[in-house]
Amino acid sequence: MLCPCGSELEFSLCCQPIINGQKTADSPEQLMRSRYSAYATGEAQYIYDTYAKASQAQQNVEEIGQWAAMSKWLFLEIHHSSAIPQSADELPVVKFSAHYLLGNKYHKMTESSRFLLENGQWRYLDGDVSEFDEVREMKRNEPCPCRSKKKFKQCCGR
Ligand SMILES: [Zn+2]
Ligand SMILES: [Zn+2]
Repeated sequence: MLCPCGSELEFSLCCQPIINGQKTADSPEQLMRSRYSAYATGEAQYIYDTYAKASQAQQNVEEIGQWAAMSKWLFLEIHHSSAIPQSADELPVVKFSAHYLLGNKYHKMTESSRFLLENGQWRYLDGDVSEFDEVREMKRNEPCPCRSKKKFKQCCGR
């Protein structure tokens, strides 16, 4: 299967080895992509583990898992990845939109996420959600928003 992050690589050559712990994400964007793919494949523990320590306290693996399972993850859009800052008090930012369905409602969430290194590994600190759109209710016969070119009712709306 192709990687959910939209890289057009096989999952096994992209985010899967990072989620499995065989490889570490070598950039904030790669960590962000792997976290999205973990949402899409229901790997709640990985999502929890890749929060920075300071943010982990407010998280709960079960809730992450419920949210991941409730949503049908359509695709990820990366708008911008900042360069790795030279100074330690600046944090790299990745701006992205996650497109997903809740039932037959198409949602898009746009966020600028901040990342930091902990023990040499990229971790997700937090993010500012700039848009949280319920884009619209899907009709059964319209093209599926996952870009499969199938009708919604024959694809993600089944
Ligand atoms: Zn990927
Ligand atoms: Zn679809």
